Parts: sequence; structure tokens; C-alpha cells
Amino acid sequence: MTSQTHPVDHELIEAAAHVARTRCRGDNHTMAAAARALDGRIVTAVNAYHFTGGPCAELVVVGAAAAQGVYELATIVAVGDRGRGVVPPCGRCRQVLLDYFPGLRVIVGAGDHVREVPVADLLPETYVWADHQLDAG
Ligand SMILES: [Zn+2]
Repeated sequence: MTSQTHPVDHELIEAAAHVARTRCRGDNHTMAAAARALDGRIVTAVNAYHFTGGPCAELVVVGAAAAQGVYELATIVAVGDRGRGVVPPCGRCRQVLLDYFPGLRVIVGAGDHVREVPVADLLPETYVWADHQLDAG
């Protein structure tokens, strides 16, 4: 684990919190995510809960970003509805985010203790999918 300190993107947290406050409804949409693109743009999304494995807000934001032509993300944060604040990504999202954006920073922690950490720090001794795609032939 590294112990890097990086200024926290509070504007990004507020963007996710705003979506959580204003767009989350019922049991289907309970989490919001916001991602900062390398060019500074912010993309937001909410989860699409379903018992078959509907995607978390972090994964929806990856697709929403691509739909806007944003393929590289610098920072991501998820915020829960009903005032739950910053929520760390689940295990599946950590793996997906690492594979898509190895240099991504993730905002974790609560209240005054939020911090940005490299996504790789959230998955020590991780399986890196790209490292195992052996050349065919
Ligand atoms: Zn997740």
C-alpha cells in the first residue's frame, strides 16, 4: 500500500451528492457517482439496482462517460442517498475500475476524513486482467 496524499476533489463529491439528493428514487436508484475526466469535465450517474446484478453507480458512470466521448477518467466518487455520504466502491467495481483506468483515483472515507487513493491501493495483490491476455499464436 502506498500512502500518497492528493488534494481531494470536493467539487466532485458535491456533484455526486447533488445527484444523490435530487435524482435517487426508491429502491432502484440509491447511489450516485461522479467522475472527473482528464479534461476536467464531470460525468454523473446513478445505479440501476436489480436482483440479477444491476450495475452500481460507478459502472453506470463509466458507460455514461463513454456516451459523452469521455474514455479516460481521473477521479471517481460515489455518494449514497438519504445523506449517507461518500461510499467506497464494492469489490466488483474496484476490479472494473482498475482494469479500465489503472491510474484512477478513488475518493473514500467519511466526513472530514475523505481522501483520494489510487484504485490499485483498494485491491492489493490484485489480478490485472490485461497482464494475462497472452498473444494468440
Ligand atoms: Zn460496485
